[in-house]
Amino acid sequence: MYDFEYQRPASLADAITALKSAEDGKLLAGGHTLIPTLKQRLARPSDLIDLSGIAELRGIKSEGGTITVGATTSHAEVTESDAVKSAIPALAELAGMIGDPQVRHCGTIGGSIANNDPAADYPGALLGLGATIVTDSREITADDFFLGLFETALEETEIITAVKFPVPQAANYQKFAQPASRFSLVGAFVAKTGGGVRVAITGAGQEGVFRVPEMEAALSANFSPDAISGITVSDSNLNTDIHASAEYRAHLIGVMVGSRGYRLRVSLPKGRQCASCRQAPLPCSGATFQRSRVPVAGRRVRYRITAYPCQDSPFSVSVRPNAPDGPPTPARFPGSRPAFPQPVPAG
Ligand SMILES: Cc1cc2nc3c(=O)[nH]c(=O)nc-3n(C[C@H](O)[C@H](O)[C@H](O)COP(=O)(O)OP(=O)(O)OC[C@H]3O[C@@H](n4cnc5c(N)ncnc54)[C@H](O)[C@@H]3O)c2cc1C
Repeated sequence: MYDFEYQRPASLADAITALKSAEDGKLLAGGHTLIPTLKQRLARPSDLIDLSGIAELRGIKSEGGTITVGATTSHAEVTESDAVKSAIPALAELAGMIGDPQVRHCGTIGGSIANNDPAADYPGALLGLGATIVTDSREITADDFFLGLFETALEETEIITAVKFPVPQAANYQKFAQPASRFSLVGAFVAKTGGGVRVAITGAGQEGVFRVPEMEAALSANFSPDAISGITVSDSNLNTDIHASAEYRAHLIGVMVGSRGYRLRVSLPKGRQCASCRQAPLPCSGATFQRSRVPVAGRRVRYRITAYPCQDSPFSVSVRPNAPDGPPTPARFPGSRPAFPQPVPAG
């Protein structure tokens, strides 16, 4: 590591001043990308301006159909936020799939999107949901923000202050992770909004995150996994590396978005109704779900789904995916394959 000056401003105004007056200043958020870069002597900033002491950059707000996440909010805070879980469960799930607990407690949303790693998860959510990136000087739509591999629309001395996510009618994220790093080989974010359906793919593209207009058009016309069963994605601009070929990634996009997904066999408690909305059988239409993997001896995998029916106490069911080549079936639960989104509960 080369020598540098370390600064820890207490306000955004001080951070802006420090960055603008430094000879070659660099912002430090969670440090999960920047510190390894410095250790390998791949960067030589004159000053590191640590954003972690600025309270106004951290936190989550839910207001008028928008979830606003402060730039230095950690992935763990997003995945645990009640506001995010109830408004955009897919976003909370995505944050919970990033790396490991250490990465999730240090890494920040601002650092992740400023870095724009082609295998990072958040770019998929921002592009899929049509989010807006707020900086100290302007607002940038996700469509204009991600410009290519590790490249964004940010100016040299521009600081991301927050990300604004519009609450969709339905959304889901599916990730096929590289088992060692947990970065995505392919991550698919599907969101249904008032303006139509958006499909964003991360992990696969040579130029980073991208949208799939054919799938978006088909799903906007017919919001069902069957609508995309005949659509294939060309592998010509996809990554090939030691983990997966471009052809394999192209196939995975179809699987992740839902054309050849897993079919779930689900058994639910019989004869129960939701204590809040009185709908039966459970789960009621206001329910939200969380999925966790449960290792089972002799079987490949089992999932435990915890359902939260409106305000009722949660209950769990176990589900087992059928063979991956089973017939295309809409998933009943957000977070279970295929990545076809489920309605987001109102309110
Ligand atoms: C082992 C490991 C596994 C990981 N797995 C995943 C994964 O599965 N999925 C995934 O998405 N990510 C993964 N990551 C990345 C992780 O999510 C980090 O959050 C990400 O690397 C950068 O966030 P950070 O807060 O650490 O940023 P830093 O490393 O502090 O900064 C990264 C870059 O962003 C700039 N920056 C930071 N904040 C701002 C701001 N507010 N405004 C403008 N520029 C800013 C910095 O100057 C720097 O150039 C992994 C990282 C590690 C080390």
